[in-house]
Amino acid sequence: MGDSAAGPPLLLDAMLGRLARWLRLIGYDAAYIADTDDLEVVRAARAESRLVLTRDRNLAARRAIDALLIESQTLDEQIEQVVGALGLPPRPARPRCGVCNVPLEGISPEAARSRVPPYVWRTETDFSECPACRRVYWPGTHWQSIQARLARRTQPETDAGAKYPPPPAASPSA
Ligand SMILES: [Zn+2]
Repeated sequence: MGDSAAGPPLLLDAMLGRLARWLRLIGYDAAYIADTDDLEVVRAARAESRLVLTRDRNLAARRAIDALLIESQTLDEQIEQVVGALGLPPRPARPRCGVCNVPLEGISPEAARSRVPPYVWRTETDFSECPACRRVYWPGTHWQSIQARLARRTQPETDAGAKYPPPPAASPSA
């Protein structure tokens, strides 16, 4: 896809659709395959040299593919595992459309004006658009919470005795 700056391209299997949407927003090239047949997943991964993310132990153990077994059922922990194992995409990584896996393009506030709720247009200045489906994105609260969570990962702890408060529940419907 000519976008090699965004880390290893990923292929998430049918159980990880929600994780795929979040990884795209972070900037990973995260394809998703709804097919539950292992052979189809293997074929798709090999065709594009993608790293398979799966919760299926048998699939992850296949020699024909590179795979990362996702351990947790919790979205937050899944994101942490991926970022811990692969690192963040090199900055600046362009967020991708959570639906299409296509890098977003910045648009002016004027261009976004008629396409977002009035409150959003008044309070946000940073708008992007998916060139494929034309959805408009802006850094809302869900995005900020995940950015904060990732920032905590990359910063040394200042108070060794303190535990993080539990992260806010993430929703994919940002
Ligand atoms: Zn899109």
